[in-house]
Amino acid sequence: MSRASPFPFVREGGFGENFGVFCFPRVWDKTSFPAQNTSCTPPASCDIICQNVEWRAGRLRNLVSVEDITIERWDALYSRCCDMIANPGEYVDSCRGKVLASLFYEPSTRTNFSFQAAAMRLGAGTFGFSDSSTTSISKGESLADTIRVAASYADTVVIRSKVEGAARAASLYSPVPVINAGDGGHMHPTQTLADLTTIAQRRGRIENLRVGICGDLKYGRTAHSLIIALAAFPGITFRFISPRDLRMPDYSLDFLRTRGIEYEESTLLDESMPELDILYMTRIQEERFEDKDEFDRLHGTYVLTKNLLERASGDMLIMHPLPRDGEILPEVDSDNRAVYFDQVRNGMFIRMALLFDFLQLPRITPSPPESDKRAICRNPVCVTNKEPYLPPLNAADGGCGYCDK
Ligand code: ASP
Repeated sequence: MSRASPFPFVREGGFGENFGVFCFPRVWDKTSFPAQNTSCTPPASCDIICQNVEWRAGRLRNLVSVEDITIERWDALYSRCCDMIANPGEYVDSCRGKVLASLFYEPSTRTNFSFQAAAMRLGAGTFGFSDSSTTSISKGESLADTIRVAASYADTVVIRSKVEGAARAASLYSPVPVINAGDGGHMHPTQTLADLTTIAQRRGRIENLRVGICGDLKYGRTAHSLIIALAAFPGITFRFISPRDLRMPDYSLDFLRTRGIEYEESTLLDESMPELDILYMTRIQEERFEDKDEFDRLHGTYVLTKNLLERASGDMLIMHPLPRDGEILPEVDSDNRAVYFDQVRNGMFIRMALLFDFLQLPRITPSPPESDKRAICRNPVCVTNKEPYLPPLNAADGGCGYCDK
């Protein structure tokens, strides 16, 4: 039975020709999974879901940086996510017997709950902590050892930390995939997946969008991740709206500059409003401020009200990774442009799509780079300044390979 692709990101001939995919039957069983069906020619020949073999073949073993999400991987992930939304019953046993470990060193509501719910909806089990003081970490156990232990019991490890680069460091020592659920003010790739899913769902395509990002752009990891991901799509321009003291960091602006992506900076929300297709509001990140008075001064700089929204276009999406702390008034919630609770729900489905792949990957023997030198980084909240055994790791642009600074 043939099936036209309902997925806006699958380019013509996409799955079969460009990515070298294999297929598996929609109702799959152990014998047809994982890689035996390499000769299937999608999408015309059978009712299948296709997936990017590159992803499964291990080139993406970890989701540590949002730069790991190429357009091709996004296409594959989003198409599976759409199928999961449409046919959730077909996935209920797809990861039975698999186990997810969730290590949350920092508070979380949506990310932690949604990963757990995602695993359960695939039939997998979960364990973990949301308060590291209840584990041997409080006895001084290193990150590398904690990961090795968690990975001994699990098939994928999700980690959130206030330390930047923690997920990258963890991935060096883990025999199973590591997913970054937020590392300090650095990145939050799975929030970005939830954001992209919501944009794609509402807009049909991710292209030719004027995206305003407002609030704490200095410490807001969701903003840092989102711009990197959106930069891969055609015709995206940015307007960054923040107090001067909370501007987008130079390393993020450099990323856009070197790719020729247009952006503007502003301190004013109201004047930006009429020009935007998307307004992505963010919380001022109190927990990252060293100076409480500085936070008090900046908190409340931007408040999105019904009144202010009158200046915006009728189809501008209002997004927020949540939690909000006064920057979007509850009166905005009933506006049909407000999609922040869609982001929450989509976050679970896209994490299901991710776990569906990762939980099935074979274990490896980790081989962290060997060096008699230790990594040095000038960023005080970089993992290299907390975990002294880490080997040096350089990013492609010469920055720190753990935190990008
Ligand atoms: N929940 C998001 C994060 O973990 C946004 C926020 O906390 O403001 O980064």
